[in-house]
Amino acid sequence: MTEVLILGAGYAGLRTLKILQQSHTDFHITLVDQNNYHYEATDLHELATGNQPKERILYNISDVIKPDKTTFIQGEVVNINRDDKNVSLKDGKKLSYDYLVVSLGFESESFGIDGVEENALEMVNIDSAESVQKHILARMEDYRESKNPDDLKIVVCGAGFTGIELLGALHEATPKLAKTAGVDPKEIQLYCVEAVTRLLPMFDEKLAGWGIDKLKSWGINFLTGKPIKAIKPNTVVYEDDAETGTTSELKANTIIWTTGVRGSHVMNDSGFSQRRGRVMVKADLTDPDFANVYILGDVSAVMDEESKRPYPTTAQIAIAMGTQAAENIENQLNNKPTSPFKFKSLGSVASIGNTQAFGLVGKTPVRGYPASVVKKGIMDRSLFELGGTKEVMSKGRFDFYH
Ligand code: NAD
Repeated sequence: MTEVLILGAGYAGLRTLKILQQSHTDFHITLVDQNNYHYEATDLHELATGNQPKERILYNISDVIKPDKTTFIQGEVVNINRDDKNVSLKDGKKLSYDYLVVSLGFESESFGIDGVEENALEMVNIDSAESVQKHILARMEDYRESKNPDDLKIVVCGAGFTGIELLGALHEATPKLAKTAGVDPKEIQLYCVEAVTRLLPMFDEKLAGWGIDKLKSWGINFLTGKPIKAIKPNTVVYEDDAETGTTSELKANTIIWTTGVRGSHVMNDSGFSQRRGRVMVKADLTDPDFANVYILGDVSAVMDEESKRPYPTTAQIAIAMGTQAAENIENQLNNKPTSPFKFKSLGSVASIGNTQAFGLVGKTPVRGYPASVVKKGIMDRSLFELGGTKEVMSKGRFDFYH
């Protein structure tokens, strides 16, 4: 029987699976993921700050598997051999395929900056987000003995969407953290060090400024136009003056690295023609050299013909790619032509805490509490597209937790 192999149960992979499972065409699907759960990558900051338990941002893959159509294998992909049409797992298993969907997701990008891996915390999956939370709590507990103000200092490196949402969530977590440390919440210091001065370039200056000013009004300190040059133990080293190259140091016992992501290392390891783990795919989302290989989500770069730049890597786009790939595979199986990927953004909204957000819905700017409601709607829609109503009912964000 024709075999469709899906690598990765993130937004793109699960969406492909969900649509393909509804097909009446005769084929079998195998889904591989290193975990037996899917996690909401867009919500990792909630786990990292302790605002939500991990159970609220992950769900079991078995809940979306239809056993008559799909087999799930828990395993780590180490190599993809497109010539021989097989995939190797770390435990030595080899899986053959007729059609392949590569949706292996993202990793933290250090840009080769010294000391990042050793001295900064990343926040890219459930385990690393949980480690951030444990680290922050441990430093707060240390403070009760040490009285060292660096135990109460948290630096977020990079003010992209991830950094901004993390800062908002950290601010929200401050009262609880202050209680743990036995201090006034004002004694907890939050910093953000960012290379550029014009933040969040996907928004106009007024909208981006609204969000940053809100965070500043909560006491968050921004050092902008300060590229980070190295991370030393408990110290961020940044360029203070571009002309002279002078550097300064910011000491803190919690340093979180959110300066951008790259696609899975498996792409490079398997000889794909890639840049930072992303492969430039054809308009129908297939590999330029293999019409039976689809590359989706954070390991994929697809050209937006309107802006003449690749689409950004977001959950929304990954889900849309999954839908298109599933339709195209179904067409190929029925000897019909594939269609090009088209994307119409619902908008992009950054949450800053549970009740504030800012961003664009279509082309309309939204900010404040109404924006946070829109954001929850976007998140619930993605949950619905992946899992179905059951997930939205049990995890949907209509039940405010404050
Ligand atoms: P990003 O690349 O969007 O932002 C990284 C930030 O770090 C940039 O502002 C960059 O200037 C800064 N930076 C890079 N190197 C630096 C250095 N050496 N020193 C200091 N600052 C440095 O990365 P991200 O925020 O992780 O987002 C990744 C993708 O995920 C983006 O496409 C983003 O839009 C998407 N995302 C979307 C949402 C949402 O829709 N709500 C949330 C999170 C992420």
